[in-house]
Amino acid sequence: MLNLVLFGPPGAGKGTQADFLIKKFHLTHLSTGELLRNQIAERTELGKKAELYMDKGFLVPDSLVIEMLKNELLEHKEVTGYVFDGFPRTVEQAKALDEVLSKNGTEIAGMLLLSVEKDELIKRLLARAKTSGRPDDQGTEIIENRIHEYDEKTRPIKDYYAAQNKFHRIRGMGSVEEIAERLIETVSAL
Ligand code: ADP
Repeated sequence: MLNLVLFGPPGAGKGTQADFLIKKFHLTHLSTGELLRNQIAERTELGKKAELYMDKGFLVPDSLVIEMLKNELLEHKEVTGYVFDGFPRTVEQAKALDEVLSKNGTEIAGMLLLSVEKDELIKRLLARAKTSGRPDDQGTEIIENRIHEYDEKTRPIKDYYAAQNKFHRIRGMGSVEEIAERLIETVSAL
């Protein structure tokens, strides 16, 4: 299996780039943000709980997200690898992911950080707000909460993967195709 963690702040282009990677390397896209939005749309118990955090731009508690991720992995045992997008977002989640993958006899091959300057992030998120319909894209305060959560809780995961020699930084500025090329080059060398 080839398991990749696509990493970066909100607006870094993880969803867009995940599409390139899954096609190129025949992987399965697993976005916890998308899974949570589906839960909200279906009005499940999990969805109702998650919504309280997401709409304000805060992270959903680890216990809820980890449980959801484990269920998702159990449902797709036959896949050849994953692009994890938006997960892990805390060191706790990163440890849980390593644990569940190792039980399945596999591991993360690499963590790819898409690095984008803050001004550019806010510009992209405000542009996306016009078409995404996502409540958490509406308003600078919510967006700033999301970036703050990333800086406080998510960014430290970098060190967790660096300690395993799995950390790769990719410049996330430029055209979508240019960034995809850089990612593909890095993944091909893993
Ligand atoms: P973005 O990366 O643009 O913020 P996502 O779709 O990945 O978008 O996430 C949207 C929201 O969903 C996050 O702000 C957070 O509230 C919630 N979320 C998604 N994944 C996780 C996760 N792994 N842990 C906690 N909360 C999450």
